[in-house]
Amino acid sequence: MIDFQYVRANDVADAVRQISANPTAKFIAGGTNLIDLMKEDVERPSRLIDISRLPLNKVEETPHGGLRIGALVPNSDLAYHRLIAQRYPMLASAILAGASAQLRNMASTGGNLLQRTRCYYFYDIATPCNKREPGSGCSALGGLNRMHAVLGTSEACIATHPSDMCVALAALEATVHVAGPAGARAIAFADFHRLPENTPQRDTNLEPDEIVTAIELPARGFAVNYTYLKIRDRLSYAFALVSVAAGLELEGDTIKEARLALGGVAHKPWRDTSAEAALRGQKADRSAFACAADVLLRDARGFEHNAFKIDLARRAIVRALTQAAAGTPQSQSDKKVR
Ligand SMILES: Cc1cc2nc3c(=O)[nH]c(=O)nc-3n(C[C@H](O)[C@H](O)[C@H](O)COP(=O)(O)OP(=O)(O)OC[C@H]3O[C@@H](n4cnc5c(N)ncnc54)[C@H](O)[C@@H]3O)c2cc1C
Ligand code: SF4
Repeated sequence: MIDFQYVRANDVADAVRQISANPTAKFIAGGTNLIDLMKEDVERPSRLIDISRLPLNKVEETPHGGLRIGALVPNSDLAYHRLIAQRYPMLASAILAGASAQLRNMASTGGNLLQRTRCYYFYDIATPCNKREPGSGCSALGGLNRMHAVLGTSEACIATHPSDMCVALAALEATVHVAGPAGARAIAFADFHRLPENTPQRDTNLEPDEIVTAIELPARGFAVNYTYLKIRDRLSYAFALVSVAAGLELEGDTIKEARLALGGVAHKPWRDTSAEAALRGQKADRSAFACAADVLLRDARGFEHNAFKIDLARRAIVRALTQAAAGTPQSQSDKKVR
């Protein structure tokens, strides 16, 4: 039994004050990840600061033609929000590909960004894990690593980031708004999550005394030619082996603009701007898509049980871009989006 205190934050300033005062405290939003980690003895916060009632639950239009999504908007509400469904259907698809309806009802936008890896060893406190206990070693390197990363790995950690929503946010070039003792700041989505390098215990560049307040989407939504393709062991309630968020803007059959981000392959949502550059100006066909896949996967490295992911990712990229170009998004859940 972990002995911890529970308090509620009154507003964002109070939340920041409380987290700054106690380095072993944690925010709790939907609790769908944190409570599991506490039950497994992976997280042992001395105090839970409940932020679930803060007024950060709105989706609002920005003066630049984009949307600002409060950090406490539940994943379900976001996926089914009229403006998201109309203008950012790739994001709706990605959210609906994750978890289950019940979990999405509880899970918050901010919590989704900060959910932790699903590496089995991270959850098993009887095994060494550099992310859980820095310096103890990485059990996955020589162990079961079927679900692990093939891009951006280090000798310290080969875990993947598990979120679906974040892959679409990376492709859409979102911005993360945060608040801390020094005030508010904005972090480009590409800089929010980190690669493991030699500090795998740090998943993101959020400071321990900062709170995520909102996600901002720019005006460009790739609402016509997009796909979120998730390849997994079961059709629902399973994390991605590989996922692809693809968005295209076409002029006739020529690619004017392209976005490509992958999930399930790295410690962070993996967006590769050189693969996008390889698509720009090309005819939207299989050979251009295969070339972009080769660029994106040029430095991919497999381990004993996960080398299959490299070929799987190559095929998934070609399939996702083909679907995006044809305007036929893959997710069946799209039909339910109002
Ligand atoms: C069985 C199962 C299957 C799942 N399948 C998928 C899947 O397929 N795809 C997928 O993407 N996800 C999946 N998930 C994960 C789920 O999406 C996340 O657990 C959820 O998004 C976390 O949100 P939360 O609000 O519950 O976070 P919490 O559990 O409340 O918090 C998670 C972490 O974020 C921190 N935090 C929360 N909000 C803030 C904030 N505003 N500012 C700073 N820190 C904050 C907390 O301190 C904590 O460390 C699954 C989860 C489960 C249990
Ligand atoms: S891959 Fe990362 S999370 Fe998994 S055991 Fe190794 S250090 Fe821990």
